[in-house]
Amino acid sequence: MDDAPASSWAQRALAHAVTLTNASPGRGSATQAETQAAEYCRSQLVSLGVEDIRQQSFLGLRSIWLFFALTFGLALVGHASFWLLAGPAGWQISLLVSLVSFAMSAFLLWRKLTFRDYPLRASLPHGPSQNVVAVLPPTGGVRSRVVLVAHLDSHRSVWIFASDLLLKANLVIVPLAIYGVFIAPILYLLSSLSHLAIFSYLAIPLTLVHFLGWFTGATADLGPFSPGANDNASAAGSLLALAERLRQNPPAHTETWLVFTGCEESGCDGMRVFLDEYGKDLKEAVFLDFELVGIGERLGYLQNEGMLRKQSIPADVEKLSLEIGQAFGGLQPLKAASFGAFTENGLLLERGFRSLCLLAFQKDSLLLPEWHRLTDTASRLQVSALGLAHAFAWRLIQKLEGEN
Ligand SMILES: [Zn+2]
Repeated sequence: MDDAPASSWAQRALAHAVTLTNASPGRGSATQAETQAAEYCRSQLVSLGVEDIRQQSFLGLRSIWLFFALTFGLALVGHASFWLLAGPAGWQISLLVSLVSFAMSAFLLWRKLTFRDYPLRASLPHGPSQNVVAVLPPTGGVRSRVVLVAHLDSHRSVWIFASDLLLKANLVIVPLAIYGVFIAPILYLLSSLSHLAIFSYLAIPLTLVHFLGWFTGATADLGPFSPGANDNASAAGSLLALAERLRQNPPAHTETWLVFTGCEESGCDGMRVFLDEYGKDLKEAVFLDFELVGIGERLGYLQNEGMLRKQSIPADVEKLSLEIGQAFGGLQPLKAASFGAFTENGLLLERGFRSLCLLAFQKDSLLLPEWHRLTDTASRLQVSALGLAHAFAWRLIQKLEGEN
């Protein structure tokens, strides 16, 4: 394998990312624009001469926000039952209805945020979506596998992401809303059993947070999608550039999978479908999930994630990644378990796969550049950031080769 400078490949990644962003603007989950993006990636792979290209079609959730409207709506029923039902129905009935509502809300959150099927799923709008999967064989026998992942869809540009200040505030509010679904019923139960009103008063701020969550969820889809240049056309472009390089310089013993997924933003339906079909063959593979790799001066990775069940990067994958990252000034770790976000890496870790989520950061901030914003446009992408991500992935493949 060659070790050419990454810059020319980064230019190729940039060109793909710009095309994806501008030709399929606002690639919402399970939309026509998302399908166009999938078709673009598939046609590029065909033109590179990749022979083993597979398509997975599925029905994916169109909006994570309607899911949150459902769960926080149930939480609001729980609050309202406690405060309003006690008079007409008695405190036992009001407490029971409240606890049942919170339990349903909590169960839905638990199932969704650990990437499992959940009740009432069919009541939320789904649409046709797809994954494009390509397998690039090595020249010799397969001794290791690497799976490069990029999601094709972009998020709604909801107000909570609109500025750094709002984002920082919501890094507190969103976890409070989610944990509040579990805390509020305990406070109401304590209040009823102890007859101390202070416990129920403590739940009032959670009512406001749950109202905010429900209102945001119910109205989010009235707004436009983010153009999705950094999140995540940068990743899809990176995979296509790597595919081209791998076609020219195939590894001897490392099989490379390229996975372009649909419906990541609404809860990783695409990756679930991928793992259901191919996961059993990839238990030993190293997954590299590209997220927002198009802006910034340094590379980083998610050390952990998972709102309701923390999952950490496997120690051997972290060690390998940090070794590779030394060539790029080190890898910045980000602990994401405590804030309300997920990636396909979280699903991979949840299911026991060896996975790393690669990100790029600006030098003075740990906020993800242009994350879910209307300003996430192609003109902001930086070829230097794409070069770092490309070089990291290339070194990872070389490293796996070297270990054979
Ligand atoms: Zn993303």
